[in-house]
Amino acid sequence: MVNILVIEDEAQIRQDILDWLFFEGYAARGAENGRVGLDAALQDPPDLIICDIAMPEMDGYNVLIEVRSTPLLVNTPFIFTTAAASREDMRQGMSLGADDYLTKPFSRAELLTSIEAQLAKKAALQEQMRHQLNALEISLAGEREQSQLKTRLVAMFSHDFINPLNAIMTSADILQTFEEKLTPERKRAHLTRITDSVRVLTQMLDDMMLVAKAESGQLDLASERLDVVGPITAFVEEFQLVHSETHTLTLHAPARLFLNINPKLLRQIVANLISNAVKYSPSGSDVVIRLEETPETVDLSVQDSGIGIPETALKTLFEPFHRASNAGYTKGMGLGLAIVKYAVDHYGGRIEIQSAVGQGTTVIVHLPRKQPTG
Ligand code: ATP
Ligand code: MG
Repeated sequence: MVNILVIEDEAQIRQDILDWLFFEGYAARGAENGRVGLDAALQDPPDLIICDIAMPEMDGYNVLIEVRSTPLLVNTPFIFTTAAASREDMRQGMSLGADDYLTKPFSRAELLTSIEAQLAKKAALQEQMRHQLNALEISLAGEREQSQLKTRLVAMFSHDFINPLNAIMTSADILQTFEEKLTPERKRAHLTRITDSVRVLTQMLDDMMLVAKAESGQLDLASERLDVVGPITAFVEEFQLVHSETHTLTLHAPARLFLNINPKLLRQIVANLISNAVKYSPSGSDVVIRLEETPETVDLSVQDSGIGIPETALKTLFEPFHRASNAGYTKGMGLGLAIVKYAVDHYGGRIEIQSAVGQGTTVIVHLPRKQPTG
């Protein structure tokens, strides 16, 4: 209920105003002079103050000065009532920050109109402030997220980039210093370590650039009509070569399968899913990749017999930097699935995960054959 404080030293006028307000459904209180009125306002801040000017103890001007300099009351609408409404009085009242001026005798209608106008003005102001606060809140949240992302990227640079860089430095150093003494096998081992590390770094940089570009909306996503069997076969062979000592990769695919897709995004989807399958499954196990088509979709699935994903982790896996608790010390930034999701969302597709902890995981990407984007 709207709470109005009436400060007026003439008892009859005060009571009249209180009655009018009461019948209009306002909760109104009276005070017989400025001092009492100010104390009442401080104790229980009203929604609006109606105040006489000439009063004993403390006059209306001083009440207004106090109200406008008290943080708790500063925005309270303030209406002066006075018998002697000389131009000078009015000017002084308004310059002190009064919202309206009523000359006695005033009618009930005049009083109510003024009150409603001031309350509406205050409500509009509050609404405006709420909007501004909201906008500020939203932009701050965006800033926070951005800077969190940056902080994490920087943290990862120092953490995940150091290992492969160290490996390159060390092997190059050994090759340079002991060139004469190294057996051909050892030399080859060091060279392989260098090329492997460069491959890891390149993939990491690729991922980070993609996430950064996607976040800032600068990713070029132009699609082309592709027979995806060729590139997917090539990715699988490439992975098989790198992991020949630990995993057996098998691809089941039709002879040809056409899809409108961006080749880079296709690579990101396939590479990240295979990389996860290999990373989170034991040495000696199989990874099976299937490419199938249904009347509406092209389905790519990658199946492993690895550690599985705990149910609780499934909800957040697609958010950047989220990893499941059982990933343990396996290296990873938590970006792969976020990238896959970004790419699949872009084509209006969906990702399905079937997983049992300790038994294995199958990730299935369903891409619509007719895509909304060209
Ligand atoms: P990145 O791919 O950036 O190198 P990552 O592999 O940790 O790091 P994601 O590919 O996004 O990140 O995967 C997120 C998490 O999901 C992983 O950390 C892991 O906990 C879990 N996960 C993903 N794929 C599998 C899988 N095939 N088997 C078990 N856990 C998986
Ligand atoms: Mg991954």
